[in-house]
Amino acid sequence: ARSTGGLNNINGSSSAADSNDLRAKLVLLGDSGVGKSCIVLRFVRGQFDPTSKVTVGASFLSQTLALEDSTIVKFEIWDTAGQERYAALAPLYYRGAAAAVVVYDITSPESFKKAQYWVKELQKHGSPGIVMVLVGNKADLHESRSVPSQEAQEYAEKNSMLFMETSAKTSDNINQVFENQASNITNPTDN
Ligand code: GDP
Repeated sequence: ARSTGGLNNINGSSSAADSNDLRAKLVLLGDSGVGKSCIVLRFVRGQFDPTSKVTVGASFLSQTLALEDSTIVKFEIWDTAGQERYAALAPLYYRGAAAAVVVYDITSPESFKKAQYWVKELQKHGSPGIVMVLVGNKADLHESRSVPSQEAQEYAEKNSMLFMETSAKTSDNINQVFENQASNITNPTDN
C-alpha cells in the first residue's frame, strides 16, 4: 500500500485487518442542491430519501468496499453539510483526501461551472495524486438535461479524471462511482 495522497494503511489497527486494507478519506464537492447527500445516502444506506440530511456535526460516514483483488477499502465519506458556500473552509475539508467526487446536476449549467471551479481548486490545493471523478447527477431527469454528456466527458478527459452520470434517485451508477474510486486509489495506473 502507498502512504501518499491521504491514504492511511490501517494494518495492525484491527485484528481482522489484512495488509491490503486501506482507509481513505473521500470528499464530495459541488453546488448546493446537486444531490451530494442523496448520493452518499444511496451508497451507504441504499436509500433515496431527500428529506434526510447527513447530520451536521457528524463529520463523516464510513463505508467498506471489498474489491475484486480482495483489497478492503474503508471510505470515510465527507459531505459538506451545506458548507460549500464558505469557500474559505474548503482546504480544511479536503485536506488529506485520497479521493474526491465532484458533483454537478445535469439540468444545471451553473452547477457544471461550479464543478469546474472545484476541479481547479483540487488540482491546486488537493493532496498530490488525489483521485478525482466528475459526476453528473440526476441523470433520471434527462428530459430537462442542459449539460451534454459529451461536453462533460471532454472536460473530464482533459483533466485526466473519470466521468460518470448517476442518479441517486434510481441508484444508477452510484456504487460504480465509489468502486472506481476505490480501485483507482489502490491501483493508481488503472485509470
Ligand atoms: P446537496 O445539497 O448537494 O447535498 O443535495 P441533496 O442531496 O440535498 O439533494 C438536493 C435535491 O435534489 C433534493 O430535493 C433531492 O431529492 C434531489 N435529488 C438528489 N439526487 C437526485 C437524483 O438523482 N434525481 C433527482 N430527480 N433528484 C435528485
